[in-house]
Amino acid sequence: YAKQQGVNNYAFYSKEINELSKKRLSMEAALRRALDNNEFVLHYQPKIDLQTGKVKGCEALIRWDSPEMGMVPPFKFIPIAEESGLIVPIGTWVIEEACRQQVAWRQQGLGDLIVAVNVAGPQFNMNNLQQVICSAIEAAGMNPNFLKLEITEGMMMGDEDSLIKKLNDIKSYGPSFSIDDFGTGYSSLSYLKRFPLDELKVDRSFIIDVPKAKDDSAIVKAIIAMAHSLDLNVVAEGVEELEQLEFLKGLGCNVIQGFYFSKPLPAQAFAEFVRAGVDLVSATNT
Ligand code: C2E
Ligand code: MG
Ligand code: MG
Ligand code: MG
Repeated sequence: YAKQQGVNNYAFYSKEINELSKKRLSMEAALRRALDNNEFVLHYQPKIDLQTGKVKGCEALIRWDSPEMGMVPPFKFIPIAEESGLIVPIGTWVIEEACRQQVAWRQQGLGDLIVAVNVAGPQFNMNNLQQVICSAIEAAGMNPNFLKLEITEGMMMGDEDSLIKKLNDIKSYGPSFSIDDFGTGYSSLSYLKRFPLDELKVDRSFIIDVPKAKDDSAIVKAIIAMAHSLDLNVVAEGVEELEQLEFLKGLGCNVIQGFYFSKPLPAQAFAEFVRAGVDLVSATNT
């Protein structure tokens, strides 16, 4: 009886696994079609400079505007795109689109805004990343100093000399580098002093409970102090509350990104947000 049940269980699981891989394959095909049909869109979340009270730029965040499923958030398709390798052409499109948009905003009189794009591991590992970036910047006619690339701690592991060369080659052309989701990786901190980085983004998980949680507050305080002593700018992600903003401002955090100011917005709405400006004085009138 037990044996029979085992066999049934096996059949049951293997059917489930089969369904899963079928789903994955059809998702992959759908992503391929989405790229061909231009179904991806970028939304832009403002990054506010606490020193000047101005919108310094934004982070470009991808969405899939699917005719069948509506607006699909990145967590539902980025992992499959990464596993299938499709993230590479999708990522190229993101860089090209972000550069075109940066120039379009400048032409609309918004000034030169720094646009940050997320770079996935497989994309970062491609030998032609520098070429992809240069082509996108040139095709858009953009000032290369206004492109920022968000990478993660995990990508800083591997042959150090070639990683440093890769970063320097791209930086020498103009773009800057930011470490995304800082504090959630398992890499050593020593790369921070050796690699040519410009910005740290403190992960949202550390920001959520400040200033109430003493441990998170201590971690955030230490990250900001360390980053500043290494000449890195600090961005706090996921700021939703005034209390968080005030705490971060008191610690000298440079830039705020979060729902407190705005969710990621379509390009046109972002332009309106920049035009309206941010009232930081009344926000932090302490
Ligand atoms: P990320 O790069 O850390 O981006 C920040 C995420 O936090 C965004 O989610 C943003 O909407 C969300 N966020 C910002 N402020 C707040 C806040 O105050 N509260 C809350 N609850 N959330 C906030 P989103 O757009 O869903 O993107 C999720 C992740 O997907 C990104 O995390 C990034 O890892 C990935 N991603 C997005 N766009 C791209 C892309 O073009 N390429 C690649 N490779 N990955 C991308
Ligand atoms: Mg990011
Ligand atoms: Mg982030
Ligand atoms: Mg994050």
